[in-house]
Amino acid sequence: MSSKPAIKVENLHRRFGDILAVNGVSFEVGTGEVVGFIGENGAGKTTTMRILASLDYPSAGSAYVMGENVVNFPARVRSCLGWMPDSYGAYDNMTVVEYLDFFGRAIGFKTKERLQRIEEVMDFTDLTPLAERLINKLSKGMGQRLCLGRALIHDPDVLILDEPAAGLDPKARVELKHLIRLLADDGKTILISSHILSELGEMCDSLLFINQGRIVHHGDAESLKRQSGETAIYTVEIAADTDAQQLNDWVAMAPMVKILDMRKSGARIEIERDEEEIIAGILRRMVTEGLPIVEFRREERNLEDAFIDMLGNADAPKNMPSGGSN
Ligand code: ATP
Repeated sequence: MSSKPAIKVENLHRRFGDILAVNGVSFEVGTGEVVGFIGENGAGKTTTMRILASLDYPSAGSAYVMGENVVNFPARVRSCLGWMPDSYGAYDNMTVVEYLDFFGRAIGFKTKERLQRIEEVMDFTDLTPLAERLINKLSKGMGQRLCLGRALIHDPDVLILDEPAAGLDPKARVELKHLIRLLADDGKTILISSHILSELGEMCDSLLFINQGRIVHHGDAESLKRQSGETAIYTVEIAADTDAQQLNDWVAMAPMVKILDMRKSGARIEIERDEEEIIAGILRRMVTEGLPIVEFRREERNLEDAFIDMLGNADAPKNMPSGGSN
């Protein structure tokens, strides 16, 4: 991380009545970093992001964007920050270009500068051919690109994007990802929230996991897998005609193995250790004791599994899809 963080959050709290939406959150995002903000519904992502965007006040703690305190200097924060909310409200009777022009005027650009920025933003988000289209005639993906364009109109150094990929089809998601990558290459600092763990893993320099208002992990995807203990899952497929009772008896007596599932096509057994010698020993025993192995597989653990393991089964998120949709 560079010496001066672009985003800094210190012991942030936000209470809504009885609900402690943000409970002692602290983190830093270095200049030019892309950080994924991940958590289940209601974890506290939007609340944290809204405070950073100077749209809400913390109950306690502080937050800074480019060194400016968001509570004391909201205008300075807004001048260097682009905010993309998870929904951008109803502007049905405006065209794309009118919408961008409206926000360009709100920012106070002079005519020449405003027209130039609108052109640049429409070009970047590939909206130029849609300039005269009414907003309510845009697809979800086009709408998200427009929303991103609005956040970029004043060329901010820092971008806070709240669930920008939510509800997008795979093609629109790839397009959005590409735009975010270009912005990152341009040196923007980006905090981006999502439920789509696997996608953010590819796109972000680090991942910030929030659960029930608390940060539970901040690091890259690999460090999350390491923290959860195992990096891979080892499974053994047993032939379909194996006697189920014999298999159950064998597994009951063998340490460090468990049956994952029994199907018509055969049974799947997991070896619950990630050490070569132990795995080799178990496989040897299986062969010498007559279990008909048809396949042995090593699968990289995915991020969702690692995250759920890390939280522990008791409070693991129940709605964390394995990618692809929100
Ligand atoms: P989602 O993915 O569903 O948007 P999130 O991680 O962004 O979830 P938040 O929107 O920050 O979560 O909500 C955190 C908690 O605070 C939730 O329990 C939510 O119901 C509550 N909350 C958020 N805003 C308010 C509000 N204005 N008034 C009361 N409760 C609120």
